[in-house]
Amino acid sequence: MTTDTTTTGAFMGDPGPTGRFGEFGGRYVPESLVPACIELEAAFRDAWADPSFRAELDGILRNYGGRPTPVTECGRLSEQLGIRLFLKREDLAHTGSHKLNNVIGQGLLARRMGKRKLIAETGAGQHGVATATAAALFGMECIVYMGEVDTQRQELNVFRMELLGATVVPVTAGSRTLKDAVNEALRAWVASVDDTHYCLGSVMGPHPYPWMVREFQSVIGEEAREQCRILLDGADPDVVVACAGGGSNAAGIFAGFADATGSELVAVEASGGAAVTTGIPGILHGMRSALIQDDAGQILEAESISAGLDYPGIGPEHAHLADLGRARYVSAGDEAVLEAFQLLARTEGILPALESAHAIAWVAAAAASGELAPGATVLVNLSGRGDKDVAQVRDILRGRS
Ligand SMILES: *Cc1c(COP(=O)(O)O)cnc(C)c1O
Repeated sequence: MTTDTTTTGAFMGDPGPTGRFGEFGGRYVPESLVPACIELEAAFRDAWADPSFRAELDGILRNYGGRPTPVTECGRLSEQLGIRLFLKREDLAHTGSHKLNNVIGQGLLARRMGKRKLIAETGAGQHGVATATAAALFGMECIVYMGEVDTQRQELNVFRMELLGATVVPVTAGSRTLKDAVNEALRAWVASVDDTHYCLGSVMGPHPYPWMVREFQSVIGEEAREQCRILLDGADPDVVVACAGGGSNAAGIFAGFADATGSELVAVEASGGAAVTTGIPGILHGMRSALIQDDAGQILEAESISAGLDYPGIGPEHAHLADLGRARYVSAGDEAVLEAFQLLARTEGILPALESAHAIAWVAAAAASGELAPGATVLVNLSGRGDKDVAQVRDILRGRS
């Protein structure tokens, strides 16, 4: 018997064969993709229960990926904000973000399934670069689907993927952005499933992806919980904060604290793509979740200063955690994010990814408003480093002076 722990009250458990998180999740795919999803779910269940798979994954994440990433206490910024701020440093992982955890996991799984080709969707290019990295490491072929508009906006990442040996296919359908790239990757997967694994980049899409990607990212939360216990004399932080686009870095750190009932969980969306707070339930990319749509049910373009948060939905488990009240969903606007980007640079010598700067922006505002009590212990998942965003921030700031 499979126990559906999310409906029996435990947080962030195994969603069972239906892949449901409360009323969200599921597997809304064409008939032709159902066998591929079922094969993948079975392979993942088998691998995840196999100590040799877990040991190989841990070894690669350690010796190639740079794990465990440290937790850094921010002395100067803590003093300024009147709280105790800690950062889980995913910016220090290989390729500069948490994305590597997922692609190494899926790459190893694909190899175990006998697939020789990885395909992926990408928006800004970061997940494409991570998948191309995993493909190079495992000696696999790699094709990345990217909206044509994004290939023009993110030329350097296209070149990065090519350097890593991947082929980038511009997608000309629809709005020619991430949403269309996901559709195209799903279509390509149907046509090539015998030898191809679709390496999806966040906790979204049809079952088993939302669950599987969360499990691959849960290493962040497991490490952080241990590290915080050492830093906080056995206690858990009062608040755990992460930015959320699709929601994988947030799910990864939340997973480590789901049963830490003293820790409040906060996910920060971009205000122009706040699926949980402004979206309504609907179906997109194989899942039922909270989506931003117009009155006629048309999916809207998310808009944010950070390309990595430009997704019109969020993973289904987040919509469920919001329903349960286990996690809170808030948003930060571009202006506050730009401020936070500079604040962390000047006070701590760390340039955060613009995505991660959303989490810092919320913390700074909540400390200033008193929503975070003086002396509160706050752990932020710093999902990535900001080097990729420096030219964009320069252009915005210079355009003003
Ligand atoms: C891709 C990305 C995100 C957004 O993706 P999630 O699945 O929400 O984590 C956030 N931060 C960085 C640095 C990213 O590269």
